[in-house]
Amino acid sequence: MIVWLAPIAGFAAFALNEIANPRGAFLGKVHWKGDPGGVALTFDDGPHPEYTPRILETLDRFQVKASFFVIGRYLEKYGNLAAAASRAGHLIANHSFHHFRAMSFFSTEKIRGEIFQCQEELEKWVGYRPRFYRQPAGFRNPRIFATLEELGMSLVGWQAHAFDNLVKEPRAMAQRILKSVRPGGVILLHDGWDRDEEQDRAPTLEALPLVLQGLKDRGLNFFTLDRLLGMSKEARV
Ligand SMILES: [Zn+2]
Repeated sequence: MIVWLAPIAGFAAFALNEIANPRGAFLGKVHWKGDPGGVALTFDDGPHPEYTPRILETLDRFQVKASFFVIGRYLEKYGNLAAAASRAGHLIANHSFHHFRAMSFFSTEKIRGEIFQCQEELEKWVGYRPRFYRQPAGFRNPRIFATLEELGMSLVGWQAHAFDNLVKEPRAMAQRILKSVRPGGVILLHDGWDRDEEQDRAPTLEALPLVLQGLKDRGLNFFTLDRLLGMSKEARV
């Protein structure tokens, strides 16, 4: 490489890592691990009328509590599913109102609107304004941290990812998680979709019992995010 290009390439790699790495820490604190006595299962992009109830059933069967990052605009139709999950002891968290994939490039005002509108909807259904937020598509920028600080919220990333949008074979999906997860880690799965056209979450449903059994066999507990991270589930303001 031409010598003068090296620092530019280095900076570009650093910058890309900061906006796209679910664990990057330079722009602000991203929570992705906690109490090593357990792990936290997190489900994004619901509630979904078919998949969310089936995932709740499986979690019940294993007596496991999980955390759900829900999309605000789905609450109008399926808010009762978020309410039921909350009543059953699962933690509910904010995944923005519309789930715009380009949200990281929005103005501060628009970012704030997306997060706040979801908070207001969630409060109607679960009775509290959640502390935890996950950014659509995982990207972030300094404006998101400033907004979360103002709303008394915290950004959550993940330690292990099944790539369940790409991997469609349940056993491969479960193995991927079981291989990569570490004690204290936050695990990312999906119980819904961010687009209106229907896609299939059946592989995630089939993989879930394998993941739960595999982690139980290792003696790991399943914590909701408040317990794993030692933080209140409710926003600070
Ligand atoms: Zn999402």
